[in-house]
Amino acid sequence: MSHVFYRKLGVTPPTIVRAEGVYLYDSAGKQYLDGSGGAMVASIGHGVREIADAIAKQASTVAYVNGTAFTTPPVEELADALAAKAPAGVDRAYFLCSGSEAVEAALKLARQYHVERGDPDRTVVIARTPGYHGNTLLALSASARPHYRAVYAPWLVDVMMIDAPYPYRAEGDDDPAMTGDALETAILEAGPENVAAFIAEPIGGSSTGASVPAPGYYARIREICDRYGVLFVADEVLTGVGRTGKFFALEHFSDAAGKPIVPDIITLGKGLNGGYAPLSAMLAKRSLVDTLARGKFGGLVHAQTYSHHALSSAAALAVLRYIERHELVRRAHEVGGYLQSSLRALQDDAASAGVVGDVRGIGMLAAVEFVADRATKRPFARERKFVERIIARARDNGLVLWPNVGHADGINGDLVMIAPPLTIAEAQIDELVEKLRTTIAEVVRADTASTNNGRMNSTAPYTATVPVD
Ligand code: PLP
Repeated sequence: MSHVFYRKLGVTPPTIVRAEGVYLYDSAGKQYLDGSGGAMVASIGHGVREIADAIAKQASTVAYVNGTAFTTPPVEELADALAAKAPAGVDRAYFLCSGSEAVEAALKLARQYHVERGDPDRTVVIARTPGYHGNTLLALSASARPHYRAVYAPWLVDVMMIDAPYPYRAEGDDDPAMTGDALETAILEAGPENVAAFIAEPIGGSSTGASVPAPGYYARIREICDRYGVLFVADEVLTGVGRTGKFFALEHFSDAAGKPIVPDIITLGKGLNGGYAPLSAMLAKRSLVDTLARGKFGGLVHAQTYSHHALSSAAALAVLRYIERHELVRRAHEVGGYLQSSLRALQDDAASAGVVGDVRGIGMLAAVEFVADRATKRPFARERKFVERIIARARDNGLVLWPNVGHADGINGDLVMIAPPLTIAEAQIDELVEKLRTTIAEVVRADTASTNNGRMNSTAPYTATVPVD
């Protein structure tokens, strides 16, 4: 019997004993292609020796000091490297461990900035649905994930929600969710003098399955935020550090004059550390930090034991250098194009096409959304646990994918995220797509065989062995 309190109870996960490149190996010798880099984390692949060396070197130099009292070379160098990548003026980096913590810090910074400026009524945060920003209580408050929120609802704070741009399910290009106008409506409803910040994933993570907003969307968001003095937080925890083929996903967007969209705060995590050591970052405009420096608290009123962690920063710095030396951001764009076109072929595949409603994404971030009816985009009833069966079957077939549910209407909706290491080779993409094609076909076949009349979409519940996250 294991003494581990697993995240999912009732199942004992395979024990991974080795990982190399895009592959994981369990204790029984089974190989898995890591098609989602875990939770969209493993940006440079597994088992990269130079990262292990950098971690070992830092551990034997100085692993940890209190981030309030001291700084260290890797923390300084990582901040310099990120400031050089970020849009002009966004050049102050605050380091934490997880994406949720970076989001907590970002929203707290937004609030404290307004307080320091003598604008204490600005308390309202606006976020989007579907959307996800983490599982600590403030980050969860800003996340539209009913299954994560339900139990803790009495502890969550009110965050206003607007509809996220979700082209596959939008009413059309004029839909206020698609144009960004929904934000202005929400700000006016809350009273502009009460609104502190708007937080959004620049390109959809698993919540809207890699949905890419229209080209003008963020110019409109920036314009609205500027008009009403609202801070724009770009949550790039999942999309940042090259995943979409640009270092920041927001770089895919510009204003009418072709100028970049500059957010006030950027959060990073996942791909920043590549999974080698927990490290997230909040990048803030210098002007915000200067306001805090002049304020009454002398800094951000937010402390964590492991902020500005030397060893984790050394690991992330080594990952960043690896990404630069191997030009992985360019690679994510180029080889990502191959990934996207290969996945799109699933829509025409005879054995699986019936349930593949949409295939979308950009760079090395992609999603396949499953539907019960392609013509109406009707999702499977949640009780069918369609995506759970895809994930379980894919794992049997040696493929790791990331599931998401509920995006269609809050409850129903099944999709898988495909986000392999940026280093994946074209032949490995062929292997990934082939395994996915086989998996979908097998689940569809099993579904058809299990229904009385041989038709799909039975409403009979299915007991999944791999509960969805
Ligand atoms: N923000 C986004 C966009 C995410 O996708 C996630 C995690 O999936 C988070 C924040 C939270 O990050 P973490 O799970 O590291 O706390």
